[in-house]
Amino acid sequence: MSSTLSASEKAFRAEVRAFLADALTPELRLAGSRMTSVYADHASQMAWQAILHKRGWAAPAWPVEYGGAGWSAMQRHIFTSERVAAGAPPTSPMGINMAGPAIIGYGTEAQKAYFLPRMLSGEHFWCQGYSEPQAGSDLAALDMKAVRDGDALVCTGSKIWTTHANVANWMFCLVRTARTERRQQGITFLLIDMATPGIEVQPIIMHSGEWIQNQVFFDAVRVPVANVLGEIDGGWTVAKYLLDFERGGALTRRN
Ligand SMILES: Cc1cc2nc3c(=O)[nH]c(=O)nc-3n(C[C@H](O)[C@H](O)[C@H](O)COP(=O)(O)OP(=O)(O)OC[C@H]3O[C@@H](n4cnc5c(N)ncnc54)[C@H](O)[C@@H]3O)c2cc1C
Repeated sequence: MSSTLSASEKAFRAEVRAFLADALTPELRLAGSRMTSVYADHASQMAWQAILHKRGWAAPAWPVEYGGAGWSAMQRHIFTSERVAAGAPPTSPMGINMAGPAIIGYGTEAQKAYFLPRMLSGEHFWCQGYSEPQAGSDLAALDMKAVRDGDALVCTGSKIWTTHANVANWMFCLVRTARTERRQQGITFLLIDMATPGIEVQPIIMHSGEWIQNQVFFDAVRVPVANVLGEIDGGWTVAKYLLDFERGGALTRRN
């Protein structure tokens, strides 16, 4: 790759290398080397995110106006390659790589102003509430009910395989707000405060003994309508947009 880099890209790589050499403690390198999946242990991920945030590098793909690094695809590639080579842990993908771009693309100004800085700082840590016991690969079969009651959507049902729900304080979630012939309609994308009464997180312990997976139960959980991302019943559109980022897309804006 080196031969294809421009002079400014080589300079950027040198800057990244110097930063990693300086910022990575032995403990963080150890956490990176001990990963058995795409996640390092939670405390190390958050410690590393705090260091990146201080440097302005916590969100490589976000536009600068939202606190991101605003890097090009090549800069992101360089950073990731160097990070892996240096043995640094990754940051958790659910907030900055997934919920963040969805909020940037579909959020109101109030949602962006509230959620994005807290996501960057690590004050808010996110989990993804899509899968349900009867809706996995066939996600449009999802059935967790959300019924409008004044300025709230009242959610009842459960989500499963929810990675990091045991440590997250926010969940981005798909709920069923209407039943129509086309199952992809009538789904709403909700941002849910995990401290809301009626939410219970039950662990799913892996064979390795690791606890990062969970089933999350919702019993008449009141979520403000202000926490709908995009349109009520239009959540599938937001979810498809988010998928671009979850599966490695590099867009930074809705287009
Ligand atoms: C480590 C891990 C972390 C996860 N984290 C999260 C998370 O944070 N949030 C979240 O919402 N979900 C999460 N999931 C769920 C995951 O993303 C999938 O939705 C879920 O595992 C698939 O659903 P299922 O287990 O019910 O399998 P099923 O959908 O029942 O599939 C079972 C098998 O049938 C196959 N299959 C299904 N449909 C077809 C078809 N039409 N044709 C041929 N083969 C088919 C599948 O490939 C699979 O092999 C996680 C899963 C894992 C393993």
